[in-house]
Amino acid sequence: MTLRHARCHFHKEREAAARCPHCGRDFCRECITDFDGVVYCRPCLAAFHAQAARDAGWRAWVGAALILGAAVLVQAAVFLALLRPLANLNPGRPAAAASKEAR
Ligand SMILES: [Zn+2]
Ligand SMILES: [Zn+2]
Repeated sequence: MTLRHARCHFHKEREAAARCPHCGRDFCRECITDFDGVVYCRPCLAAFHAQAARDAGWRAWVGAALILGAAVLVQAAVFLALLRPLANLNPGRPAAAASKEAR
């Protein structure tokens, strides 16, 4: 089967101009597009865009989660660094002992 005798998947009366490398179906000039140097038929281009949008959304979520995780780690480290000298300053809980002595 050659392209010359193939018909467009959507327009049976038209001769196919190209074959979509993604779904392997034949399409006329109107139904096939060149995107980023790659040939797509209309359904495959729509699917590609939908997948790209999903990928971009997923990557954005992962990036946000990584930034949030890093921020939480940094805050925890700062919090612990601030707590350590306070614990060293009050080793024997003098506040509790002072209140007992006052009674
Ligand atoms: Zn296709
Ligand atoms: Zn067509």
